[in-house]
Amino acid sequence: MSAVAREALDAAAAREWLRGFAAAVAERSGELTDLDRPVGDSDHGVNLRRGTEAVLAALDADGAGGAGGADGTPGQVLGAAGRTLVSTVGGASGPLFGTALRRAGKALGEVPAADAAQVAAALRAALEGVVRLGEARVGDATMVDALDPAVAAFERAAQEGAPLPRAARAAAGAAAEGAASTVPLVARKGRASYLGPRSRGHLDPGARSVELLLTALADALGADALDARAGEGA
Ligand code: ADP
Ligand code: MG
Repeated sequence: MSAVAREALDAAAAREWLRGFAAAVAERSGELTDLDRPVGDSDHGVNLRRGTEAVLAALDADGAGGAGGADGTPGQVLGAAGRTLVSTVGGASGPLFGTALRRAGKALGEVPAADAAQVAAALRAALEGVVRLGEARVGDATMVDALDPAVAAFERAAQEGAPLPRAARAAAGAAAEGAASTVPLVARKGRASYLGPRSRGHLDPGARSVELLLTALADALGADALDARAGEGA
């Protein structure tokens, strides 16, 4: 977690984001897998953990794929992580999360430090990539139910001139609400859809992971540091 609020998403912040996401997945892997038990095949935590550990290994291997070196752009860091997720995770979530990060990285282009509007556009591209690949809409009880409102909340905050960390915190909050909204839904995509009406009453595991991803972004950008400063009247 960043002790200082960041004004832009640079390569270092992108790495911190991915490290934070990997740490959250490692910590919550059991919970993610438990969520995947009633509606899936009990492997979501295992899947994402395999992928994020591979991302960490690439970050630690200096210069690997442009992700681990001291330089590079946030777009390169996210693109490399996305490719790693696609190639290491067997389940549906690997290609979906991997595509999200690849598309976000591509949208950032060569920019060395992305401001709130640029991060908003990257998150929008991530959502579009997930929707194009998985063809899920809001209400189908998938990760889209968390990602779609999160992107909208980020965009709204950015348009209102909120600092980048605060836009990310708003996105994380919307993702949490979106994940919770999957509980009463009947799943219409992925393995959970095989259960039909019996999929009702369960929180979608991928939606929870999206909440972790956006919480990690807010933490990496130092949203709490910003709030602490605001609390002191600074
Ligand atoms: P698998 O379903 O192959 O076992 P995981 O368990 O790792 O893969 O991931 C399951 C999650 O993937 C679901 O909770 C859901 O959020 C997401 N998911 C599955 N299919 C789709 C889809 N078509 N579109 C969007 N998200 C999906
Ligand atoms: Mg599964």
